[in-house]
Amino acid sequence: MYQNNKIFIYKNVKKITIKEGFIGDIYDLIIIGSGPAGLSAGLYGARAKLKTLILEKGKAGGQIVTTHDVANYPGSVENASGPKLIARMVEQCKSFGAEMKS
Ligand SMILES: Cc1cc2nc3c(=O)[nH]c(=O)nc-3n(C[C@H](O)[C@H](O)[C@H](O)COP(=O)(O)OP(=O)(O)OC[C@H]3O[C@@H](n4cnc5c(N)ncnc54)[C@H](O)[C@@H]3O)c2cc1C
Repeated sequence: MYQNNKIFIYKNVKKITIKEGFIGDIYDLIIIGSGPAGLSAGLYGARAKLKTLILEKGKAGGQIVTTHDVANYPGSVENASGPKLIARMVEQCKSFGAEMKS
């Protein structure tokens, strides 16, 4: 659950009772960080129909957005810049229903 910039992590929970007045959303999957790893996880989660939230403390994309030439990612084409690659990953995640907050 994510509410008012606070993240609540529950482990081994069988049942959660929602307190009266709760206004947040409930997610099946919350991912911290929207670098390539977070976006990949988000894509798989959302595609598996899990209600998925990706939280980012800075700008979406992680380290790869700082490079202008990504030559060695599988499937990356010539002149694939980090920001362009990440924009495609973000679009793909969202197309399956993942939500992103930063
Ligand atoms: C200049 C440069 C060029 C590169 N070029 C290539 C290349 O050409 N080919 C290649 O394969 N790899 C390249 N890399 C490496 C590639 O960028 C990394 O392997 C990749 O970014 C790792 O992805 P990641 O999602 O694991 O982590 P990161 O990219 O580090 O993403 C982690 C994300 O999590 C966020 N985060 C961290 N803590 C929190 C928190 N507490 N709350 C919320 N968000 C949080 C961060 O802000 C960040 O956005 C390059 C890296 C750099 C720096």
